[in-house]
Amino acid sequence: MLQAAASGWSVLGRALWPPRCAFCGQQQLHPVCAPCRDDLPWLEPRFDLEPFAVAIAPLAYAFPVDAAIRRFKFHRRLAYGPAFAHLLRQAAGLLPDDIDAVLAVPLHWRRQARRGFNQAAEIARPICRRTGLPQLTGVSRSRSTPYQSGLSAGRRRQNLRNAFRLRGAADYRHVLVIDDVITTGETCRQVAKVLLEAGVPAVSALAIARVAQD
Ligand SMILES: [Zn+2]
Repeated sequence: MLQAAASGWSVLGRALWPPRCAFCGQQQLHPVCAPCRDDLPWLEPRFDLEPFAVAIAPLAYAFPVDAAIRRFKFHRRLAYGPAFAHLLRQAAGLLPDDIDAVLAVPLHWRRQARRGFNQAAEIARPICRRTGLPQLTGVSRSRSTPYQSGLSAGRRRQNLRNAFRLRGAADYRHVLVIDDVITTGETCRQVAKVLLEAGVPAVSALAIARVAQD
């Protein structure tokens, strides 16, 4: 009965809010339509990033992905969350099978309060729902670091040193760190460092997009 009522609501929900492509606004079945998906700046999804077992970011941080990520982050266009999860679906298939927890790169609480959400957690949530993997909690950003964009690699490193802290144990074999964009990789690397130091044997990384490094 409850189930019938629930499915009735979801049918009604779909009729009232038919899904639209996050890029072109066309109504269709998926959160990104096939023509828009084909036009995106796809890269070889796997790339080398120390100290990650596997690092995956299937798109270049270039138009229209950069604009979409900015709208998502700074203009609260949360519909991009499922769209990005949809775009990550295929590349996520390249991740190792032994991953047993997911960690969305945390924001400092003050920034999260101001923004109202954590973009990395919005990307991680549908992935956890689909895979049944738990989200690792207990890692926090202990310092409010200035925005990374526009800083040199050296300054980024300095900026992020000891920015993350783990409370409690991380009793997992292989943790997947999720962020929206990987620029120099320093943010993910600092999160990985905390996990590896806590005894997690392996860490992998997943992001929507990456900035091509020379
Ligand atoms: Zn579209």
